[in-house]
Amino acid sequence: MPIPDSANILIVDDLPENLIALEALIRREDRTVHAAGSGDEALSLLLEHEFALAILDVQMPGMNGFELAELMRSTERTRGIPIVFVSAAGRELNHAFKGYEAGAVDFLHKPLDGYAVRSKVAVFVEMYRQRSEMRRQMEALENSRREQQSLLEKLNATQMELERAVKMRDDFMSMVAHELRTPLNTLFLETQLRKMQLERGNAAAFAPDELRKMVGRDDRQIRNMVRLIDDMLDVSRMRSGTLSVRPVQTELSALLRRVVDDLSEQASAAGSLITLDAPQPVDGLWDEFRIEQVIVNLLTNALRYGSGKPVEVSLRPTADGAHIDVRDQGIGISAEDQKRIFRQFERVGGGKSADGLGLGLYITRQLIEAHGGTIRVRSEPGQGAVFSLDLPRAADLANGTA
Ligand code: ADP
Repeated sequence: MPIPDSANILIVDDLPENLIALEALIRREDRTVHAAGSGDEALSLLLEHEFALAILDVQMPGMNGFELAELMRSTERTRGIPIVFVSAAGRELNHAFKGYEAGAVDFLHKPLDGYAVRSKVAVFVEMYRQRSEMRRQMEALENSRREQQSLLEKLNATQMELERAVKMRDDFMSMVAHELRTPLNTLFLETQLRKMQLERGNAAAFAPDELRKMVGRDDRQIRNMVRLIDDMLDVSRMRSGTLSVRPVQTELSALLRRVVDDLSEQASAAGSLITLDAPQPVDGLWDEFRIEQVIVNLLTNALRYGSGKPVEVSLRPTADGAHIDVRDQGIGISAEDQKRIFRQFERVGGGKSADGLGLGLYITRQLIEAHGGTIRVRSEPGQGAVFSLDLPRAADLANGTA
């Protein structure tokens, strides 16, 4: 509550000439005197203002000074206001308000002695000012305590965030190292083996058929490493906001056919067959390379977690673009896991076929959203999974980069 600079003083008397005389005695620049001609009038002023002091005439028709004081004492808002009673009766009246002495009460006697009135009022006003100042200081103290508390909370949150980020980076580094090590180890072993065969002059090991298989194996390991590194680069571009999406006129059924064909060998290695259901061309403005990357990610997952069962891709035009479903009949994803698989580094534990950095779906969603589209998953454990994409025809590139 703001503390007024001017102290309010209430004077209550049924005789206007008394009010005028009293006001003249106590008026000062830093005080505002509110005069009331009756108890009722005084009560409405009491509701309106905060008072440093109330000077009440005891003898008034209607509500007398004591009755008014009684009412003031019974109300929280006015209970603490010091009261000075003014009375024409003798000093024996000083005890008349005994029952209500909780709080400062004082007496003045008619005819009023100017000096006594002024000094009493000065004491009460000074007390009021000190109380107000104390309250102000307490409030300031409380505010600064609260500010400190909230700063501390922010600091704690930042520290936790930082620790999480550092841990995430460390986990990421060891995951990357591990993931790169696997294909590198295989390549290293292959080269050692070849060196040995060469030293032994074993030409049969390098017959065209063997050589073809060798090159195929090398190719797979190298592709794995390139994919990992590309994913990492994409994530860091996404974080710094420099991953660009360049939409060009694209036809999706041809794009899907190409991706499905490219992955057919991988599919048969996984024991799955990929079928494409794209009965009509669907044209729009999309970044061909990025959409291909999205479909490859979804299909690779479908093969990886598809338990060797068929995988279906379907494409349909929609009112404002395209809808693509990638459906597998594999291990499925629990509702709980569905919430986190689109985040960075989130992988669902279990399954030895599960290798990867947990970046694929994160990148996929960022790329789809960069096109103004949406991706969602429907699945139940053991019942396979359907990843559905909705892409607006003209990529909504409000954000320009992903
Ligand atoms: P990862 O590189 O681990 O595959 P992703 O981001 O592509 O990373 O996938 C995150 C996790 O989501 C995977 O580890 C896997 O547990 C789960 N997941 C993704 N696709 C499927 C799917 N088609 N069926 C079952 N689980 C899946």
